[in-house]
Amino acid sequence: MAIYIEGKTLCPLCGQPVEPTDSPRTVAFSYFVPNELDPLYIFNDAVFHTEHFDAHPLHDAALARLAERERRQAAHTCYISGTEAVIENYKNPANLIFTDWFTDDPADPLHEYNYRYLNKYYFEQWPERQRFLDAVEQLDVSGRWRGPYLRQLLRQLTSPLQPAWSSEMQATYKQRFETEHAA
Ligand SMILES: [Zn+2]
Repeated sequence: MAIYIEGKTLCPLCGQPVEPTDSPRTVAFSYFVPNELDPLYIFNDAVFHTEHFDAHPLHDAALARLAERERRQAAHTCYISGTEAVIENYKNPANLIFTDWFTDDPADPLHEYNYRYLNKYYFEQWPERQRFLDAVEQLDVSGRWRGPYLRQLLRQLTSPLQPAWSSEMQATYKQRFETEHAA
């Protein structure tokens, strides 16, 4: 969640201080837009006056993007293998990657990979592996992207598989995850 400092956190749309983030007159967003050139980047990790957010022309687009992110996250399935994205399958949290939003353009090869879980246990054998890595590289130098996310993603994808956690550590992790995600 965006950091709120009383009197110091300003609404990017009007430049005036916002109320605390639990106020109905305030809307707060977490990190969800990795590309600094994306028109929705204005909403990334930011706090707004609700009335100013509601009147913004990209209001619907921002909510749609967030809803899509939540929908894909909730599916919790590895895109490569179709297996469930649970700790028993990726063994160590560093081996599970949730890709961010690459592009709105359906003609872009990365469009298919927006918001996907990739379990690194399957990544090396993935027939689409090289095509995917090349497309990420190309987007990074295309002039259509600004920000460190794609470089970080490439490092994560090409780094060695991390050692499996002990079954005790996996169980603790799973328990904590389920507690945090309980409705
Ligand atoms: Zn405002």
